Amino acid sequence: MRRVVSIIIAFVMAVTTALMCSGVIGTPAGADSLQDQINAKQDKVNDLEKRIAELEKEGKELLSQIDLIEEQTEEIEEQIDLTNDRIKELETAIEEQSENIAEAEEEIAVRTAQMEERIRIIYMSGSDSYLNMLFECKDFGSFLDTLDTLKILVAADRDMVDEFKTAKSDYESVKASLESDKREMDALKSDLVTQRNKLERNAGKLETLKKQNDKQRAAAQKEMDKEYEAIKELIKQQSQGEFVGGDFLWPVSGFNKKSNISAYFGQKGNYWNKGHTGMDIAGRNAAGEGIKGKPILACNSGTVIKVANTSPRGYGQYVVISHGGGISTLYGHMISGSPTVSEGDTVVKGQVIGKVGETGNATGPHLHLEFIVDGKQVDPLNYVSYIK
Ligand SMILES: [Zn+2]
Repeated sequence: MRRVVSIIIAFVMAVTTALMCSGVIGTPAGADSLQDQINAKQDKVNDLEKRIAELEKEGKELLSQIDLIEEQTEEIEEQIDLTNDRIKELETAIEEQSENIAEAEEEIAVRTAQMEERIRIIYMSGSDSYLNMLFECKDFGSFLDTLDTLKILVAADRDMVDEFKTAKSDYESVKASLESDKREMDALKSDLVTQRNKLERNAGKLETLKKQNDKQRAAAQKEMDKEYEAIKELIKQQSQGEFVGGDFLWPVSGFNKKSNISAYFGQKGNYWNKGHTGMDIAGRNAAGEGIKGKPILACNSGTVIKVANTSPRGYGQYVVISHGGGISTLYGHMISGSPTVSEGDTVVKGQVIGKVGETGNATGPHLHLEFIVDGKQVDPLNYVSYIK
């Protein structure tokens, strides 16, 4: 429904019996200066609210930028992993090709040596060693057979050597192509790592900014809390004078206690971590009409001590009426510009003071009614009673 962070804007003006009786609404000099002080503090609070809102917005933007960078970093990390896998595969494939080449070289060497040996023998057959060769054979016919066989074997050797040379050359070209792929992958990886490092540096910078933002916001919040304390102190000084008397009436006709309280005083939730500071009246009336635009009635007679608009935060468009006796009522989230009263006006019980809206920190149209007694928010149900 709505949240009212520890905002205390109770302006309980001293309305003396004399003034009430004479019907003259004036402000004594002392009260005037207190009111001025409260207004000045309120202005400061408003500025701080704005500053905090800006810092919150900035903080959110920083967080979303950090999230985005984290997402991008994750994506790049995934790509780096994929690249690493691919590089490993390529390295294995290159290694395989190197082994193939080494094996082919070995085969070439062995076959070449074998061939050379056979050639040597054939060559020698026509030299001085001829006789030696001849003696080693059983007979001359056998020697000739051996020579033919050797010649056939040499031809086979040559073919084999050629085959292995071709195979080696194929392996080498495959290896070269794999190495070229690997160089590309290495370059891609290096590029990705550069990108990731850059992102990490940016994330680092943003996190520093976020920390600064958090600090600034905490400082502004602390300063604002101080101002609230000061306002409470001023309200204490002002919450004197006679109570106007009589009962307090329900501020939105047709929207009753039984069906239309959407949030009670002191209720805790996402919006009110310190507890709801008032009571919310919302929903539809018996005729099915929504509450937006319905007239807000002054709960009791008194003096208007505040008409302000803190939109888009806090109470939004609101009115505070002092009823004397240290009791004030606050009406929040009115339609902007709808208040029909001004500061210093006297109002009578049941007088229309504005219209129900959803300005400020509200998620839908409703009236946030607050009772401030001696500078403290109290349960409106202790004071107000339903009337038709
Ligand atoms: Zn509320």
